[in-house]
Amino acid sequence: MATTIERLRDLQNSDRIIYRLKKRLAEIPVESEKLSDKFKKETEELVAKDKEVKKEEVTLRETESEVIGLEEEIKKAQRNLMNLKTNREYAALMSEIDGFKKKISNLEEHALLLMDNVVRAKKIRKEEEKRLEKEKGGLDEVLKVLAREESEKQAELSEEEKRRPVLSGAIPGEMLIAYERILKAKANRKALAGVKDNICTGCQTRLPTGTLDKLHKGADLVFCEGCNRLLYLE
Ligand SMILES: [Zn+2]
Repeated sequence: MATTIERLRDLQNSDRIIYRLKKRLAEIPVESEKLSDKFKKETEELVAKDKEVKKEEVTLRETESEVIGLEEEIKKAQRNLMNLKTNREYAALMSEIDGFKKKISNLEEHALLLMDNVVRAKKIRKEEEKRLEKEKGGLDEVLKVLAREESEKQAELSEEEKRRPVLSGAIPGEMLIAYERILKAKANRKALAGVKDNICTGCQTRLPTGTLDKLHKGADLVFCEGCNRLLYLE
């Protein structure tokens, strides 16, 4: 037949299991969300980069058609050259043609730069897409593991929560109240402390003779003066 203190220790074990399961169950959705959010943000960044590249491609096409327009202007001017009467008119039109040529050369330089940018951006994009695909595979795997862990822990918790009232029901009311009162105040979820070499293992206080006497006589409710825990002899 288990003593009351043994039953209390079983209850404390059960409470610690429940506490740890609940804590982990609260962490899992937060972890999953954090990982999913990170991936979502990276995907959004890729879409934003795509938009930038498209914009550069539009500028490139505009530049190219501007060059074609200027080339047309040059052809027109060259045709007009034959019809000119004076040297002055001829020189003026020639300088206009030179102006067009200069503009074309500037535009072509700009177009080359844009082309380089677009090619580079597309290459980076492709690499990034590959990386994200790989990351997505890894993420799905991690999320699956977390989901599995969650359902396992949930099952363990409901088992333990069924067990707890059986354990607590076997403890006299007065002791159960004392136990639960202490438990609430203890961050480490330990309401009981063993006594070893006359020292409370909960707070390392040397216990007074009176307290030790009570324990040796088998009294049920013996508290540590240092940490208020329920004491038992180890
Ligand atoms: Zn103590």
